[in-house]
Amino acid sequence: MNIYGLKRKDLEDYFLSINEKRYKALQVYEWLYQHRVHSFDEMTNLKVELRNQLKKDFTLDFITIVKKQEDKLTKKYLFKLLDDNYIEAVLMEHDYGLSVCVSSQVGCNMGCAFCESGRLKKVRNLETYEIVEQILLIEEDIHKRISSVVIMGIGEPLDNYDNVLNFIKIINDDKGISIGARHITLSTCGLIPQIQKLSTENIQINLAISLHASNNELRSSIMNVNKVYNIIELIATIKQYIAKTNRRVTIEYVMLNNVNDSDSNAQELADLLKGMNIYVNLIPYNETNHLEFKKSSKERILKFYDILKKNNINVTIRKEFGSNIDAACGQLRSKEVN
Ligand code: SAH
Repeated sequence: MNIYGLKRKDLEDYFLSINEKRYKALQVYEWLYQHRVHSFDEMTNLKVELRNQLKKDFTLDFITIVKKQEDKLTKKYLFKLLDDNYIEAVLMEHDYGLSVCVSSQVGCNMGCAFCESGRLKKVRNLETYEIVEQILLIEEDIHKRISSVVIMGIGEPLDNYDNVLNFIKIINDDKGISIGARHITLSTCGLIPQIQKLSTENIQINLAISLHASNNELRSSIMNVNKVYNIIELIATIKQYIAKTNRRVTIEYVMLNNVNDSDSNAQELADLLKGMNIYVNLIPYNETNHLEFKKSSKERILKFYDILKKNNINVTIRKEFGSNIDAACGQLRSKEVN
């Protein structure tokens, strides 16, 4: 097992199990996350025998950056995994700091009609360390610390629940990468049982729901997941999640020309979300070469925005990042496919 897949608590349990002191876990964490070493031999305050033991019990391999593409505020990284699969992550520069959008799976099985990432079916879940290392390698590349993380790259994070939760706990650890829970956002297409489970975890992360439609028929026509977990049950689940966690939830709504962007869609959406502690993030659709969907016009997006506003729904329009280098939402691919 790769040592970057371990929470500090797991490492403490490990040291106790080999009759070592618990605080060794903290020392190792400092080597990994403060000094950022790439080998056990660099952990010089541990005895040689203990380093050898660690080498026996864990690996410390890294995924590798094989390609970088950048435009003004965005940098897209293509990573090669140890088994020769590929994933991508995106660094974005905001006025409030740097954020990274990480992938959680190789490919994706959710089958959203408008999304490029899902064109490659899921090959496998990412291991925890493969998600952690996306951040470590980007920070190493830019010689800066990032301030927020969004789990919105390739894959459905709640379809890789345990590894994604471990990842969150590791980067949130103040002796780890120390990214505040409120600076971590998990985006899901709406897997109801996992959303319910997440509400019991007692972590203060932000939850974003890819809703993208205002009724069942429309949602099922663009998102397969709706045929299993429909929009009515999903909204009820979000209400329970909010009641339980006291956290405001983000509703993502990608604006697809002539598909889900009419005035009546806006009104229907407002009715659906009335009174909930949510805000709606309208996402200008990023067109891709392979899919026939078009982006809504600016005027259409503004009209949709106005209708939500008039209905007292909190709403923002997402800033577009990286569309020139295919690094924007829904443009990431885990394979160089055509
Ligand atoms: N599977 C997760 C996270 C990955 S997608 C989810 O579904 O939420 C991140 C967000 O980008 C989702 O809201 C997704 O629906 C949206 N998206 C997908 N393709 C897009 C595109 N071409 N343009 C804009 N947003 C897109």
